[in-house]
Amino acid sequence: MSSVAREWREIPGRYNLEGSKCGCCGQVYFPRRDFCPKCRRDGIGKVSPYKIDRSGEIFSFSIVYESPECNSFLKPYAVALVKTGDGALVAGQLVDVDLEKISIGMPVRAVLRKLDADGASGVIHYGFKFAPAL
Ligand SMILES: [Zn+2]
Repeated sequence: MSSVAREWREIPGRYNLEGSKCGCCGQVYFPRRDFCPKCRRDGIGKVSPYKIDRSGEIFSFSIVYESPECNSFLKPYAVALVKTGDGALVAGQLVDVDLEKISIGMPVRAVLRKLDADGASGVIHYGFKFAPAL
């Protein structure tokens, strides 16, 4: 019961890349937060939902050769921290990319992909991953 509720709460962020933006300093956050650590008191009540730019560039990345059992079919794979066009830092897996060719500053875009399937409940999770921008 509680896991279903959590699933629903996470859907807006996972499907639409919904974060939040501080109306005081303009900083964009993902995942969303209700409080701006930069503005502190001044930002209270001014942070609102914000749709993150789906394009950005690789800020940092690492190649994963060993992974937990649940992801072992993927390895090796790359995980990147992507700086979006609006300045948010979003972590995600890189897909459709030659691992040898990944570099800092490489343009990428968010794509909706299957994340995993929960065998017990049959729930298939989708979420964002990043692919090279053409
Ligand atoms: Zn702020």
